[in-house]
Amino acid sequence: MTVAEIQLQQHLKKAGFSLTNPRKTVFSALQDREPQTMAELVTSCGNNLDRASVYRTIELFEQLGIVQKLHVGWKYRLELTDAFSHHHHHMTCLRCGTITAFSEDAELENRLHKLAEFHNFKPQDHQIEMRGLCHNCQVATRMI
Ligand SMILES: [Zn+2]
Ligand SMILES: [Zn+2]
Repeated sequence: MTVAEIQLQQHLKKAGFSLTNPRKTVFSALQDREPQTMAELVTSCGNNLDRASVYRTIELFEQLGIVQKLHVGWKYRLELTDAFSHHHHHMTCLRCGTITAFSEDAELENRLHKLAEFHNFKPQDHQIEMRGLCHNCQVATRMI
């Protein structure tokens, strides 16, 4: 087992669940990937896992804080929470839907914490999403 899988197993165990093969499959399909739609995730899980099992597993993972939904307009994509991946933010292209992650920025994180502090707010987590046009789409729209 990988370090991440052991971490997952411990997380599940604390909540009274065990690390089954379907759970392992869904978890590894989410690892080191850009956020995926449910349909993409079902594909990533391969043939040995049916749609219903993927849905059920995601539901559980969401309840246990393993997976989070990233809302893009009225749709959403799935990704591992900060507990299971590196803290990061996203830039979404409104034209082609490409999602680019940008890594943690200490200055930004610091500023957010200061803001929360100022408002006497105790932050637990946050998501930041920038929307706009990716480089390719900027070029493409300029040509129209
Ligand atoms: Zn684009
Ligand atoms: Zn952040």
